[in-house]
Amino acid sequence: MSFCAICDRVVVDQKEFCYYHQEALGRLQETFEDWRKASGIGWEEYLDKLCQIDETGQWVREVAEHIKSKDGPSTKT
Ligand SMILES: [Zn+2]
Repeated sequence: MSFCAICDRVVVDQKEFCYYHQEALGRLQETFEDWRKASGIGWEEYLDKLCQIDETGQWVREVAEHIKSKDGPSTKT
């Protein structure tokens, strides 16, 4: 049994995150597609913006901060 990379909850389906953070990750990626089409924003810039705006929910913000903290140059799209 493994635990979420962000909180201490058990992960779902061998994924990296728990149910809540996995859901947040899905929303984060969907929203990125919209933003990218609308404004051509890059992934890292998008994560920065998410962490700055008040509308971002707590779960999504935690996922964004987690990705930023572990992302290296190798994961650029
Ligand atoms: Zn979690």
